[in-house]
Amino acid sequence: MSPVLEPLRPGTTIGLLGGGQLAQMLVLAGQAMGFRFVVLDPTPDCPAALVGAEQITANYNDREALAKLADSSAVVTYEFENVAAAAVAWLENRVAVPPGSEILRIAQNRLLEKQFLEQLNIPVAPFQKITSAEEIVPVLETFGELMLKTVSGGYDGRGQTHLVGKDQIPAPFSKLRQLNEELVAEQFVSFEKEISVIVARNIHGEVCTFPVAENLHQKNILTISRIPASLDSRVTEQANSLAKKIAEGLDLVGVLGVEMFVLADRKLLVNELAPRPHNSGHFTQDACATSQFEQHLRAIANWPLGLTALRQPALMLNVLGEHLPLLLKKLKHLPPEAKLHLYGKQECRPGRKMGHLNFTNDVPELLLKPLLELEIWDEDLLRKML
Ligand code: AMP
Repeated sequence: MSPVLEPLRPGTTIGLLGGGQLAQMLVLAGQAMGFRFVVLDPTPDCPAALVGAEQITANYNDREALAKLADSSAVVTYEFENVAAAAVAWLENRVAVPPGSEILRIAQNRLLEKQFLEQLNIPVAPFQKITSAEEIVPVLETFGELMLKTVSGGYDGRGQTHLVGKDQIPAPFSKLRQLNEELVAEQFVSFEKEISVIVARNIHGEVCTFPVAENLHQKNILTISRIPASLDSRVTEQANSLAKKIAEGLDLVGVLGVEMFVLADRKLLVNELAPRPHNSGHFTQDACATSQFEQHLRAIANWPLGLTALRQPALMLNVLGEHLPLLLKKLKHLPPEAKLHLYGKQECRPGRKMGHLNFTNDVPELLLKPLLELEIWDEDLLRKML
């Protein structure tokens, strides 16, 4: 279906594929713009439904449910990459689904993603498709160390292993192979920092980026983002221009998270693309003139994009299942500069994203003290950030 040609009017219904926390925050931002929401998600009372989206409870490839979603919505978008691109392509025959099935097909497949980036002359870590354990040996010799990853289906670090020596190959190879037929070996990059840029683009080709975030992960899950990233202006500009080039190359309508590595020589490599609001962009809710959620909706609803300037330096901390009980005990000590966002998920388990906290302060050095006093996140990790 053709994109939304006239700005969507308040009162219009927007459809969402997937009803997790990203959809929930899209709903919260969109309600303030006057939109209504309908969400397709297999789990009853999904986070988006908890804040007022009407829910169609069904699997993502249930054609009847998809048709119902299309018929109830002026435009549909998705909140995560694990929706089948084929289901989105089917939906596109009935309704516009920005950012679309083609972007999803690329972002769901690490090989296609890297090939696409190479065609655009965007730097990525050297990589090689792997179809047998034997093929890994010469690649390991060339790369020194490598990350073996499933081509699709991995998220939050699942579906990947760091390999250093030949004797390590068989076990991870068969484990990853069980998860997914196709694997890719990437050179292990000893980066200095991980950063991300959220870029937005609308159908008129208007494109803008949010301030660059610097990210720390624990067990491959994002723990903390610091904004602005501590980078010199040349690297910041380079990161922004790579993200814009990718958005243009993809004909993006919506927001896209671009994860990058900063090397010791200050060169950048693009690691991954996420065609949706991104965890490292949650700071925008409390630290920017427009949030990434509002911006995504503005783009897909054919509204002009909003300002992305940073109002105050910020830290964003994920509240994982292991943090939540302690945080709830300490609620009364929450400093005034902390904004708590909880997703209302019923089941709390370690590693599960239950919410996040945005800390903002004009003086970045003052962000650390109240956080250390809470004694919830690892002190060494926090000190690494500031
Ligand atoms: P990904 O699923 O590709 O985003 O990877 C998850 C995390 O693993 C990244 O945020 C990095 O910390 C680490 N990682 C991924 N690929 C590489 C690589 N080629 N070299 C070093 N670390 C990596």
